[in-house]
Formats: sequence, structure tokens, C-alpha cells
Amino acid sequence: MTVLILGGTAEGRALASALVGVGTPIVTSVAGRTRDPALPPGPVRSGGFGGAAGLTSWLRDHAVTAVIDATHPFAATMTAHAAEACTAAGVPLLRLERPSWRAHPDAPSWTWVADHEAAAATASELGDRIWLTVGRQSLARYARLARWPVLARVAEAPASAVPPAWTLLVDRGPFELLTERALMDRHGVRVLVTKDAGGVHTAAKLDAAREAGVAVVVVARPALPPGLNTVDAAPAAVAWVRGLSTRSTPV
Ligand code: NAP
Repeated sequence: MTVLILGGTAEGRALASALVGVGTPIVTSVAGRTRDPALPPGPVRSGGFGGAAGLTSWLRDHAVTAVIDATHPFAATMTAHAAEACTAAGVPLLRLERPSWRAHPDAPSWTWVADHEAAAATASELGDRIWLTVGRQSLARYARLARWPVLARVAEAPASAVPPAWTLLVDRGPFELLTERALMDRHGVRVLVTKDAGGVHTAAKLDAAREAGVAVVVVARPALPPGLNTVDAAPAAVAWVRGLSTRSTPV
């Protein structure tokens, strides 16, 4: 069997490592937009497939027997294409998605919004020192805050310049509670805006916000395609692959 992992995430890398470790043939796919990406063990292909139809052909051409979509919770287009292509090609699909921050003990005290535009509007009502941790691709959706003293932290510099009133910080996690707290103090942050990326790598800012009495605005995750089989950690995905290979072994 050959398992295609749709990656670009820590979960995708952990899964690739685990499957290589048990001798399962895999290939990981990354979008190819990050300049210096952390790559998983095993073969890696890079770049888009050309929509759901392109992915369907790719699955057939490469005799893929199973797909695990381990892309980021906000990579909704890739997730939709994976669901469509796997249905068309008759290939089993599993979604590996890190746990949401909905279960965080402070989640009920945060303001949850449906999209970035709503986050920008809500943040501007909550305070004037806003910290954006929403990803470089979403910064343009905060244009209404162009004249505000915004701190924007991104893992990689955005393609276009941020407004002159903003402070751009390029830094890649994981981040620690103490340094997040110090950053908030240094910039006088009163409102933190983030998206429900989930997991632990970037969660320290949420605890720092509670300690500092900073308001938190969270963009909720996009909905998953209906009926998608989903797990939240690599070991459960490995067990799913094992189940498939057991079922396909003649007795
Ligand atoms: P997206 O909007 O869902 O996808 C846009 C297009 O990029 C897809 O239609 C596909 O092109 C291509 N693509 C995306 N992921 C791919 C993959 N793993 N392999 C091959 N092609 C891929 O995705 P995105 O939000 O821009 O994220 C791009 C990548 O960055 C994903 O792999 C994701 O896991 C990773 N990432 C995203 C975020 C985030 O906040 N969105 C954060 C961290 C990492 P075609 O239609 O041509 O196939």
C-alpha cells in the first residue's frame, strides 16, 4: 500500500515518522509555499495538485491506497479537495486534526467569531493595543485596523508590506509562557486575536493573556466536509492504516 499524507503541519510530520517507523510506504505532500520548511522523513512531493480533479488523477497515477489529510485546521480548500478526490477515486480518507482550543479552560471567556473580518471589528471594540497571531495570509483581512498600533506576529514575512502603524514580528514557535508574557507587556497588548489553530505549540499566548488580563478574540475553525472520519493524534491514524492493511490482506 502507499499512503499519501497531506502535510505541512507538525501532526503530518509526526505521522510520517510513525508510519516510516513501522515500514508503511508513504509520500508526504506539502504546498511548497514555505521558504525553509521542516520536512518529514520519507518521500516528499511539493506543490498543488491542480484542484480536486488534479488530486483524483494523482491518486490514480500513483496507486495511492489511502489518504490522510493532516493539513492545518484552516487549510479548508485542501481538505475539501481531498474529500472530493478520495470519493471520486474510491480511496479511503482519514482526517488528522489537532484538538481545538474549544476545550481550553479559558475558552468560554473568549470572544469566538466566524471569520477574520468579524475578528477585526470585535478587536477594535475591545481595546486599542491589538496583537494579531492569525497567519501571514490573513493579515490583509485586518485592513480596517491599518491605523491602529497593531503587533502582528507571523512565522514568515508576508508578501506585501504591513501598514506603517503596525509592528511586524517574524518568529516561529513553539513559544513559552514567560516570553509571551514579556512580549505582551513590552507592547502594552490589550487584545489578542488568534484563530483556533489548536494544539500545544502556540498555546502559551492564551495562558499569558489570562495572566495579563488581556481580552482574547478567536476565529472559529471552518466546518469539515460532512461524514469525514477524523482523529486528533498520529497514533490513532497509524491504527487506522493498520486496520486497512489487515482488511486488505487475503486470509
Ligand atoms: P488551502 O487554502 O486549503 O489550499 C490552497 C491550495 O494549496 C490547495 O487547493 C492546493 O492546491 C494547495 N495545497 C494546500 N495544501 C497542500 C498540500 N499539503 N499539498 C499540496 N498542495 C497543497 O491551504 P493553506 O491554508 O494555504 O495552507 C497551505 C499549506 O500550509 C497546507 O499544507 C497547510 O497544512 C499548511 N499550513 C497552513 C496554515 C494555515 O493557517 N492555513 C498554517 C500552518 C500550515 P491545488 O488546488 O492546486 O491542489
